[in-house]
Amino acid sequence: MAFESLSERLQNAIKMFRGTKEITEEDLKEPLRQVRMALLEADVNFKVAKNFVAKIKERALGAEIQQNLSPSQQIIKIVDEELTALLGGTQAKLTVADKPPTIIMLVGLQGTGKTTTVGKLAYNLKKKKKSPLLVAADVYRPAAITQLQVLGEQVGVPVFSLGNEISPVEIARQSLDKAAHLACDTIIIDTAGRLHIDEKLMEELQDIKATVNPHEILLTVDAMTGQDAVTVADTFNKDLGLTGLVVTKLDGDARGGAVLSVREVTGCPVKFVGMGEKLDALEPFYPDRMASRILG
Ligand code: GDP
Repeated sequence: MAFESLSERLQNAIKMFRGTKEITEEDLKEPLRQVRMALLEADVNFKVAKNFVAKIKERALGAEIQQNLSPSQQIIKIVDEELTALLGGTQAKLTVADKPPTIIMLVGLQGTGKTTTVGKLAYNLKKKKKSPLLVAADVYRPAAITQLQVLGEQVGVPVFSLGNEISPVEIARQSLDKAAHLACDTIIIDTAGRLHIDEKLMEELQDIKATVNPHEILLTVDAMTGQDAVTVADTFNKDLGLTGLVVTKLDGDARGGAVLSVREVTGCPVKFVGMGEKLDALEPFYPDRMASRILG
């Protein structure tokens, strides 16, 4: 399970506060060192970990004594609140267009779970009585179109493909007519992934963006890749302007650093997390619940 080690270490660090009667800087030193170590070991970005601990220290020392809470309970509350804030504060919902269709572009490096996420999103939306159209705009990987068609069939939603000889920009453009024709209220575009970020990929994605003007550009990042995921997200965001992130493979034994740092580093909210390979394994991301899960 993701976060297992981080959870355990954070909980141990927090236990060190339990005996504290009055909070002094000296009392905080060791527990906060432990918190910082736990974050770094979970592959949280160095700066993020440093800022996080600094905030807790500042708040703990400046905290007004609340009658109903012991000093240690107060610190636990601060850690919980700061962890929630780090994860994005409140839930960032999927944008829905005032006037349909809502256009969602899925982007991501190969293997991060982009196409699977397109299927999961379609499943999710269909359950909410929406009618999505999936658009096969990854024309470079031959299996990608078939993979999307299989997913479309499983979910029971139409898939728009023009094969792999037409440019992805043109496919995206024509998908608007198709959606109108089929009365689909949501368009989900599966774009090409590459092993690494390259200029050509980014230009193509920028062209698709300029052509269809999407309401959402979601990037899938693989939780198992830790800080690399955060670097990739930062680059995509700078080049493309993301509206949200989907952190995939959180059902595995990811150390959790990606989820913890990605919002802080990119300023982009995590909107969903992938919790498995199946269609129903996409969950909306609730920062407060995730914080509680981590702190146990
Ligand atoms: P793409 O190249 O980014 O489109 O990646 P795919 O959608 O083909 O996914 C790559 C692999 O990751 C597939 O085997 C998926 O089943 C798997 N995968 C995707 N999302 C998740 C997830 O949330 N959890 C797990 N365990 N596997 C996932």
